[in-house]
Amino acid sequence: MSESAGIGLLDELKRELSEIVDINRAINVLDWDQNTYMPPGGSTGRADSLATLQGILHARYTSAKLGELLNRAQDAVAGLDPDSDDFNLVRVAKRYYDRQVRIPEDLVSEIARTGALAYAVWVAARRNNDYASFAPWLQKNIDLARRLTDHIGYSEHRFDALVEEAEPGMTTASVRAIFSELRPQLVNLVQAIAPQVDTVDDSPLRRTFDEATQERLGREVSARFGYDYTRGRLDRTTHPFEITFGRDDVRITTRYDKNFLPMALMGTMHESGHGLYEQGIAPAITHTPLGHGVSHGVHESQSRLWENYVGRSLPFWQYFYPVVQDAFPGVLGDVDVRSFYRALNKVHPSLIRVEADEVTYGLHIMLRFEFEIGLLDGTISVKDAPEAWNAAMGDYLGITPSTDALGILQDVHWSGGFGGFQGYALGNIIAAQVWESVLKAHPDLPDQLRQGQFSTLLDWLHTNIYHHGRKFDPADLIQRATGAPLSSEPYMRYLRNKFGGIYTL
Ligand code: ZN
Repeated sequence: MSESAGIGLLDELKRELSEIVDINRAINVLDWDQNTYMPPGGSTGRADSLATLQGILHARYTSAKLGELLNRAQDAVAGLDPDSDDFNLVRVAKRYYDRQVRIPEDLVSEIARTGALAYAVWVAARRNNDYASFAPWLQKNIDLARRLTDHIGYSEHRFDALVEEAEPGMTTASVRAIFSELRPQLVNLVQAIAPQVDTVDDSPLRRTFDEATQERLGREVSARFGYDYTRGRLDRTTHPFEITFGRDDVRITTRYDKNFLPMALMGTMHESGHGLYEQGIAPAITHTPLGHGVSHGVHESQSRLWENYVGRSLPFWQYFYPVVQDAFPGVLGDVDVRSFYRALNKVHPSLIRVEADEVTYGLHIMLRFEFEIGLLDGTISVKDAPEAWNAAMGDYLGITPSTDALGILQDVHWSGGFGGFQGYALGNIIAAQVWESVLKAHPDLPDQLRQGQFSTLLDWLHTNIYHHGRKFDPADLIQRATGAPLSSEPYMRYLRNKFGGIYTL
């Protein structure tokens, strides 16, 4: 093949893929709208629209034309630098094509329609503490996930087909190996802290904080981190999220509790971290299938890094606490910065995942990971799931929910499908490894945070992570960014060091 023919072919492939990306962006706009401003009456019509568009997207992504273009493109890029954008675009697009082509279009539409309808049911079920109304939808989603994984195929475990989608290169067994090494260490740490739980007083966080001021502070801190409001916006939702329509329109949401300051403030930092990642994708790849964060785990590592490694650190609060004190006159005047920092990092097993501290958070995730596997392979039935959930909470965290709303109904995820929870715990592990690497490169980073300077950190993350989008698979990206394979050791070092300082361990 001549060089010019090769370039022509890649151009044609990129045009085809860019249209597929456009359809996906349109789906995301509808999705964002559904979760922000759509009136409740819109849910059935929206479910139809989403199902239709998902069907069109799927048809485009599995077309014979695209398949042929990808096959020819594989030959065309075979001699290119394996680190080049084009080589990896073809590699990643071909892998996704090979997966999608196994899934029938009607199943894709059915999953989309069911997810949209189940979301509305879940919202009401959680509000009314009514598991029975959600149970049939949970069963539908389980049946759909089984059909989906049958079509995709798997070698060892049905759940592998879902893990591979969320975390390219990982399997149920490889995630389990990491979790089973981590779990006893986390449990030991929680038990070591338990007798001292009351030495940290988090009541200052539960005073009254004007909501409009909370919002202003959230916007201020996210903008200081580098989240660009000319390419983003912040809205209110029940369940906070980040969503992207390309690097130049990346949106985040949060929720407010006037009697609990961290809800919105730390939540906004978290979603900004996701937003910074998406806004930092290289312009050259934004309009291609490489133009997103590479995996759920790596994405979550970035939200956690800004929320916890920056946002729950003492140096950051030495800078930002006077701003917060001034913003709420008379509310925090009697609380010094160290007491505030300790309050923000109080460790105690709680029922709600999104409110969990850094030490117990991973246990919430490990529970859900095993629970999803159980639902999918049938060892946990939908009927017995609430009881099984409560038993697992006792097992992992030593506490039992008093209602299903505080138990099995708390997360939005199972209204839409399965297979993403492990990313939250992997995110904490990856964040620690990344954080160690940034500190090694910039030992003065804590001083910079103390000055309210975040650009050195952001630059490092841009260069080593954000910029690449999906160009390198997670294991490869982590190796390139940190010089080492994924390991939970930095995470445990971080937790022992930080919480050893807050508690006397
Ligand atoms: Zn997140």
